[in-house]
Amino acid sequence: MPVLGSTAAERIAALGYDYSAQPKLRAGECNLCGARGERVITVARRDRYGFAARLVVCGRCGLGWLSPRMTAAAYTAFYASVYRPLVSAFHGRRIDAATVQAQQHDYATELADFLAPLLARAPRTILDVGGSTGVVAGVLAAGLGARATVLDPACDELAVARAAGMETIAGLAEQFDAGERTWDLVLLCQTIDHLLDVRGTLAALRRMTASGGHAFVDILDVDLMSQRADGIERVVKIDHPYYLAGPTAAAFFALASYTIVAERLSGDGHRGFLLAPGPRSEPDWPALQQRAGALLQPRNHSPGSLDQR
Ligand SMILES: [Zn+2]
Repeated sequence: MPVLGSTAAERIAALGYDYSAQPKLRAGECNLCGARGERVITVARRDRYGFAARLVVCGRCGLGWLSPRMTAAAYTAFYASVYRPLVSAFHGRRIDAATVQAQQHDYATELADFLAPLLARAPRTILDVGGSTGVVAGVLAAGLGARATVLDPACDELAVARAAGMETIAGLAEQFDAGERTWDLVLLCQTIDHLLDVRGTLAALRRMTASGGHAFVDILDVDLMSQRADGIERVVKIDHPYYLAGPTAAAFFALASYTIVAERLSGDGHRGFLLAPGPRSEPDWPALQQRAGALLQPRNHSPGSLDQR
């Protein structure tokens, strides 16, 4: 078991969340390359909170994911009442809708500064997928002179965006059917690691991106985070079903028919990509497999965490 600061462990225990009792399903097939079975290797059995969560890595492409993972319904309940108190307990400070909005405002200002010089033509319309209360969409729309739409499953958070004058759509990206409608700039900010189907969501994003438009997607880079955290177990958390890095993200984008226009790295380990619609291209599978092999070397894990089962 990882050594958590005793106070963090106590605060988490006090929440009384029984992760082991949540309904789960085995996510055996790789969402990126489709590999399954013997090519999938367990690299951690605990997450940073101390919960018994199993991280597996695909030996063919290097994508990481939790298996088993909670069902969609269990995740919905988790986000409704457990997620913010859990993260607050872990960090030992209050993290709620108000503090998150302040953090998102800073994030959006930085993002607007990154995007503005890269977009030859300012977008007229912006869609923020998983956009919560619309802080990021609002800052970008004001900065770029665009109209904002926020897509999110949380109706109470959407009400805040609506009150600020934004168009809101209740729903999940994987299930939302925009018909023929497209947006000049589609955002998926600090969200991809929380998805239950990365490939399906990127395909939906691509359909909603106008020709001549762009998308912005960022990942929490698991390579960077593992180096900083000194071990993969400190990076694993039940709120992240998926664990991406630069090469696996690029492979997902290639398969979803996106071309990478520009990249940025933020201080907190998020790697962001500005994308443009392009042709579908085949990822460099041998290079991905080589990286996966390096990733699965025992020296890259805390002692005893590598398990070939
Ligand atoms: Zn794979």
